[in-house]
Amino acid sequence: MWVGLATGDPRHHLRRTPVTTRRPERVKRIVVLTGAGISQESGLETFRDANGLWAHHRIEDVCTPEALARDPALVHRFYNLRRAQLRDVAPNAAHQALAELQAASRAGTWAGTVTIITQNVDDLHERAGSTDVIHMHGRLNSMRCTACEARHETTGDTTPATPCPSCGRPALRPDIVFFGEIPLHMEAITAALTTCDLFVAIGTSGQVYPAAAFVDLVGDAQTLDINIAPSEISTRFDETRLGAAGTLVPRLVRALMEAQHVA
Ligand SMILES: [Zn+2]
Repeated sequence: MWVGLATGDPRHHLRRTPVTTRRPERVKRIVVLTGAGISQESGLETFRDANGLWAHHRIEDVCTPEALARDPALVHRFYNLRRAQLRDVAPNAAHQALAELQAASRAGTWAGTVTIITQNVDDLHERAGSTDVIHMHGRLNSMRCTACEARHETTGDTTPATPCPSCGRPALRPDIVFFGEIPLHMEAITAALTTCDLFVAIGTSGQVYPAAAFVDLVGDAQTLDINIAPSEISTRFDETRLGAAGTLVPRLVRALMEAQHVA
């Protein structure tokens, strides 16, 4: 009776031995979720790390719909500063490796697909060359008009008086999912999660929902957590690899590409 529980039981290995380690050739559809950790390795500060100007503000004072209604100038200034920070950072080896895997998929030299979902609002994945990145919490380089719902690429500063390029009304707000608002693209995200073979979380805290629950939505897919330190949800993954994303992600991508290289 106990035989089924023995570590030598092939069924045990089927579930508990990550394909990323032993069977990378079986991985065809990959979903990657990236969080603050991957951007921090590029030197991007999170709100909580930010010193100086914002140290005396609580997150509730600048990242909520109530804050936007109460003090829109403050909210615009905060996001202007964060947008400006993007100019001082560059994608790191983890962003680049994921972009290379996507490029190999597009070129047909690697027989798989990669969907990147990010909790980050920066543009580091795109600057590394990734395409179709799903920004579930919005983007710093986009403003949304609350009057006509148009979205506009924005790299400079804005104020509450900045007119919407579409309708001319001063109704732009950061295209960011504030605390208390519903994340974007959840339908596409759920579809990707429920049909993938491998789910990889990179640099996520495991504290922000719904992203923290994605690992429970993937059915039979193998799950891998890459993090600098164990997160609150690491134990819900089949495997956890601890270390810098800039080291571990290129290593993972190399293994995947070698396993399914198309000559
Ligand atoms: Zn408008």
